[in-house]
Amino acid sequence: RFDKDFGQHILKNPGISDAIVDKAYLKPTDVVVEVGPGTGNITVRALEKAKKVIAIELDPRMGAEVTKRVQGTPLAKKLEVILGDVIKMPAIPPCDALISNTPYQISSPLIFKMLSMPNPPRVAVLMFQREFAKRLVAKPGDPLYSRLSVNVNFWATCKHIMKVGKQNFKPPPKVESDVVRIEPLLGSARPNVAFEEFDGLLRIVFNRKNKTLRGGFSVKEVLAMCERNYKVYCTLHNIPVDESMADDATAAAGVDDMMDVEMDVDDDGAGGMDEDDNDDEEEDMPTFFKDLKDADAAKEVAKTPSRNPKSKVAMVVRAKVAKVLAGTGLGEKRARQCDQNDFLRLLLAFHEEGIHFS
Ligand code: SAM
Repeated sequence: RFDKDFGQHILKNPGISDAIVDKAYLKPTDVVVEVGPGTGNITVRALEKAKKVIAIELDPRMGAEVTKRVQGTPLAKKLEVILGDVIKMPAIPPCDALISNTPYQISSPLIFKMLSMPNPPRVAVLMFQREFAKRLVAKPGDPLYSRLSVNVNFWATCKHIMKVGKQNFKPPPKVESDVVRIEPLLGSARPNVAFEEFDGLLRIVFNRKNKTLRGGFSVKEVLAMCERNYKVYCTLHNIPVDESMADDATAAAGVDDMMDVEMDVDDDGAGGMDEDDNDDEEEDMPTFFKDLKDADAAKEVAKTPSRNPKSKVAMVVRAKVAKVLAGTGLGEKRARQCDQNDFLRLLLAFHEEGIHFS
């Protein structure tokens, strides 16, 4: 009996299990992580080709099943089964390849978990529901273009491998599936920015992807976050922070007018958040100052709420945000139209001004 709550749709076509493993181009020295081995249809093929397979399985019945399947064979000593939820694990174990007929509930968090690994695997061959797979390869301007699409194509290359009909599973799922091959950028090819920073910026702009970036950065909570992080940055760099009220001269300089804080209305008139971008609430991201010596002091500053939105430091932050948006020429663009180079350019310009997002 298969448990739908665990996303258990077992592959019954051996040709597909073979193809998934083949497309990882495994070497005999490779360590493979398989998420959700189930009864082991993909696992046994990977075991035949790799040095070791670490199979992470949430359902203990399935863990027992896959262990039993190789018991007494030479493959048994190459298999390690870890019982648990891969998303709740502190990290995916280091590996050369990641393989999964992915339980649909964890599609997005699994990808984010892999992309944020400092040393990600060389390759991931993953099966997803078709609609989700389309989001991975969506381009700017495409309705499915999202924070997920940008991250995948920024930190990796992603290719569609094959379509898999629902009749290949037991029980058949409601929708069709696709297999994709993701190759994370490694070593010096990996972009030289913190994952949490790039993703932190994308969270802001894709929460309101139909709004202009200037509109997105006019939202009170976003400005408050920029201010909190800016104060942390100031603490770490011995820059004085002026919490006193801004005087009339500051207001007269037009700082206030540059960023209209009340202007939080979606251009499509729908209001609220864009529904397709809530795929991502999985974990507390570390902050950009975590490795620095003054981290404790900085964290204290980060916790302090911005008590006075009209303070001089609040005005400074708003002016910096306005300067970055004008300087990059991106203020009037919408996230759905921007490509990954636009986002990187924007992030680096914010960093120049001491504004961070994690
Ligand atoms: N690999 C097998 C196959 O292709 O026949 C089974 C794939 S089935 C779609 C997904 C498997 O992932 C199930 O065995 C399920 O129990 C397991 N699973 C579900 N959520 C999980 C999680 N959060 N962490 C690890 N395994 C999970």
